[in-house]
Amino acid sequence: MRKLTLNTRLTRDQIERYSRQIMIPDLGGRGQIRLRQSRVLIIGAGGLGSPAALYLGAAGVGALGLVDPDRVELSNLQRQILHTTLDLSHQKVESAKDKLSKLNPEVEVVIYPVRLEADNAATIFSGYDFIVDGSDNFPTKFLVNDIAVSMDIAFSHAGIVRLQGQTMTVVPRKSACYRCLFREPPPPEEILNCQQAGILGAVAGTVGSIQATEAIKYLAGFEEGLLTDRLLTYDAKSMTFHMVDVNRDVHCAACGVERVARSSLS
Ligand code: ZN
Repeated sequence: MRKLTLNTRLTRDQIERYSRQIMIPDLGGRGQIRLRQSRVLIIGAGGLGSPAALYLGAAGVGALGLVDPDRVELSNLQRQILHTTLDLSHQKVESAKDKLSKLNPEVEVVIYPVRLEADNAATIFSGYDFIVDGSDNFPTKFLVNDIAVSMDIAFSHAGIVRLQGQTMTVVPRKSACYRCLFREPPPPEEILNCQQAGILGAVAGTVGSIQATEAIKYLAGFEEGLLTDRLLTYDAKSMTFHMVDVNRDVHCAACGVERVARSSLS
């Protein structure tokens, strides 16, 4: 994680803007300065990425990167709250940048109107302190995991479908990764996605907000209660949250000790 520049001060406007969170003892002025010096990359300006980006921008994270190749469609607006009816057919990252800049002009917004792929992920991830994975497909979730783990960047995983969600935070070298939990993507016939299965917007909002909270905790320096080595599952139909313990897998293809030993030899 980036080093804190100790002589940094908050301006009067910043103290007022962030006063309700600076009051929180765990965060304080020092945590606020840490947030301002942090860079968060958000994969997907959609159902999860929208609430995550809005809360991170409002909280004063220094820079937000947004990766999304898509344009705003009418069927997105029920849950992707960064975008409005006026943004239909616009690039999602442009629409997102517009809203975030209006919400908080201090936040640098960097946009990547591309699909995250194996050959561009490391370049895009470079220079970020935390990643919020709001992607909607398994290949991207595994790609985010593998590249983030290899680059030692902490991230929040999440998935949502219908009335259910799940999320877990990964701190490489310290906690279990997504591939420790699920070794590989499920076969395509077992996959339900938003398009086929549906999703309630408010469920995406709850899970995306948890991802933003995790990013803030990590970046502001109160990491003790991070959602690591645990998968949180949320069932909105029964309104229940469950925690499932996740152990690091020494044979994990992304973070296992065998993998780490191999890469340190090469
Ligand atoms: Zn792993």
